[in-house]
Amino acid sequence: MLTFSIEKTDTPTDAKKRAEWLANPVFGRIFTDHMAIIRYSEGKGWHDAKITARKPLSIDPASTVLHYGQEIFEGMKAYRGADGHIKSFRPEANAERFAASARRMGMAVLPEDLFVQAVDELVRIDQDWVPSGEGQSLYLRPFMISNEVFLGVKPSTEYLFIVIGCPVGAYFGSGAVSVWVSEFFTRAAIGGTGEAKCGGNYAGSLVAQAEAKEKGCDQVLFLDARERRYVEEMGGMNIMFVRNDGKIVTPPLGGTILRGITRNSIIRLAADNGIEVLEEPVDIEEVFSGAASGKYTEAFACGTAAVLSPIGKLRRPSGEAVFGNGEPGPIAIKLKKILTDVQSGRAPDKHSWLHDI
Ligand code: PMP
Repeated sequence: MLTFSIEKTDTPTDAKKRAEWLANPVFGRIFTDHMAIIRYSEGKGWHDAKITARKPLSIDPASTVLHYGQEIFEGMKAYRGADGHIKSFRPEANAERFAASARRMGMAVLPEDLFVQAVDELVRIDQDWVPSGEGQSLYLRPFMISNEVFLGVKPSTEYLFIVIGCPVGAYFGSGAVSVWVSEFFTRAAIGGTGEAKCGGNYAGSLVAQAEAKEKGCDQVLFLDARERRYVEEMGGMNIMFVRNDGKIVTPPLGGTILRGITRNSIIRLAADNGIEVLEEPVDIEEVFSGAASGKYTEAFACGTAAVLSPIGKLRRPSGEAVFGNGEPGPIAIKLKKILTDVQSGRAPDKHSWLHDI
């Protein structure tokens, strides 16, 4: 634990303006008034923890992050429950994944309790920014950049850890999303950085995402880099398929896909409700033939931002796979309700996933 110094903003957002924004938050465009910052220097460790006004950073043009991309981030949410109390969802899991990402990228490892503390401190000071509407939450973005001033390819000796927050509603509109299968671009190879939540993975995915849009789809689905045969994950979420034997199948965590916290939560909640989730390789050919034959009845994406979003169809150059009638399926709808009821405090928190702030 570090003591955070608190420097409140001199120019807080007008309460009326904030209420207007909170009534209809646009994903990722509106930010709270403050940010949490902790610095790291080799030899000194983590220091200068503070909450301060959210403002532009001043960094040297030779800062290593601008050249060699040592950057990692997390995405998590805090919810205002029916009783008005604010809770975050599984922050320890994000802290653990953040530490794993840091190790993979050769960055300083932030102690997990300090990660959770920094998020809590920010949410406490900006608590009026946590919306209470259906499907709304405060999205939190902890991230870390390397900022040693040095043009040399080596791990930085200086880092900046920051948390910012933005009130959000649904990432996708209602209904089922359409997904483009990327047959050329891949996201991650064995031994690469696919399992780390680093900015570079997302930079590399953007042309494939742009291709998906061009093909009239909402999202992109990546296949394995070696054979372009097995389903991996989407640009910013994991994927699951429902089979007509009642089981769900999702690609295993083999080091190339992100260890989604929503993925893990759904696997556990499905088990609580008697639905088995198999973590097995998913062959894209089987998905296309299985959608046509009725073996694969539903598909859905899962992630913090997307929550659980039914997929109506997959599209690729040679054709489409439509799940059921292309509308959200019953298992996806059921699991979404089970998950969001736990997150919002409407259902008992049997796994102790909610963290009081
Ligand atoms: N895969 C990728 C590539 C992602 O960016 C995300 C979002 N963090 C996920 C999966 C889902 O992870 P989580 O459920 O922890 O948000």
